[in-house]
Amino acid sequence: MNSFSLLPVPAFNDNYLWLLHDGAKALVVDPGDAAPIVDTLRKLNLNLESILVTHHHADHTGGVMALHEKYGAKVFAPALDTMPFEGKMAYQRMGEGDSVTALGIHWQVIDVPGHTAGHIAYFGEPAGMAPTLFCGDTLFSGGCGRLFEGTPAQMRASLAKLSALPGNTNVCCAHEYTLANLAFARRVEPGNTALMRYSEACAKKRENNIPTVPSSIAIECAVNPFLRVEQDEVMASVLSQFPGTPSTPDNIFGALREWKNTA
Ligand code: ZN
Ligand code: FE
Repeated sequence: MNSFSLLPVPAFNDNYLWLLHDGAKALVVDPGDAAPIVDTLRKLNLNLESILVTHHHADHTGGVMALHEKYGAKVFAPALDTMPFEGKMAYQRMGEGDSVTALGIHWQVIDVPGHTAGHIAYFGEPAGMAPTLFCGDTLFSGGCGRLFEGTPAQMRASLAKLSALPGNTNVCCAHEYTLANLAFARRVEPGNTALMRYSEACAKKRENNIPTVPSSIAIECAVNPFLRVEQDEVMASVLSQFPGTPSTPDNIFGALREWKNTA
């Protein structure tokens, strides 16, 4: 059996369209644009088997119909988001507890509302490589998605599910937002030495035009302030920025997200 390769295909300004393949067949996640996927499939001589979608935003869905028509790929998308291709093509509606078999891998669907109401993530354990998570715009390296359709409590619960996955899990984020996220994280947690070291490593990668992702769950638990709202330094920074915030984790999380929006 062939081994798997995982690659982030750049699109637009800062999107990554994730592609996993076994040398013959591929799956793609959140193809906001068909062209870079078509190019990559052609270059690597791959057929497209499956398309996995995490949420309804255009930068994650714009290429789905074209790829579905060109390759006949099966499409999986969240049941609770209204998809732009709804009523225009057949697709499978996924939610918590469902699973997708793609490239012979069993992908577990996790509901992660917050960025959108129906946002889902896909977690799988491909043979011969680290467990892998496609988390769309929910978890970014050093940050998290904006709360367009959910509450801080929902997003915090969604992130808690993801942070409970194995530490070596590849975290495949849909945007290269890492350096901006880490600059903010350093303001929140200037005493976090793991964060300082990780920031330096990521800055070096970007200087050389190398993606900072996939990250891992272990790294995110160590550096990402949105997974660390119960740490003393994170709480103290949020309270000094927004005095009077009730010091429950959900309130700290909500204030931290507000702070990042205006930072
Ligand atoms: Zn989005
Ligand atoms: Fe996005």
